Amino acid sequence: MAQAPREVRCLQEWDKYPPFQRRAAFFKRFWSVLAIGPFFVVLVVIFQYFSTSASKLLLALVFAALVWAVAVSAYAAFLNFRGIDCPKCGARFGRGAKCGSCGLPRALPAKTK
Ligand SMILES: [Zn+2]
Repeated sequence: MAQAPREVRCLQEWDKYPPFQRRAAFFKRFWSVLAIGPFFVVLVVIFQYFSTSASKLLLALVFAALVWAVAVSAYAAFLNFRGIDCPKCGARFGRGAKCGSCGLPRALPAKTK
């Protein structure tokens, strides 16, 4: 449970929200390339240069690339669906405009003149 050092009026004012938001946006955009890229490179290298080899090391490389792909996909899904903890109440903030638990808004309403 993360607590804010001072009272925050909305989630976007919290220091930890912008880095989280950048990381989540990055993974939302590039998760598939990050996940499948190494697997693709390993397969191309193996078929290009070691197509007749029966080495267990190559098999381990393929397996490691698959584990990487699953790990990156799971982390991207975690960032997307779990989100961030609310700085006010510590519960999961969720994807809505307000914290489902305490009602802290994601952003302050725009000021009117
Ligand atoms: Zn809350």
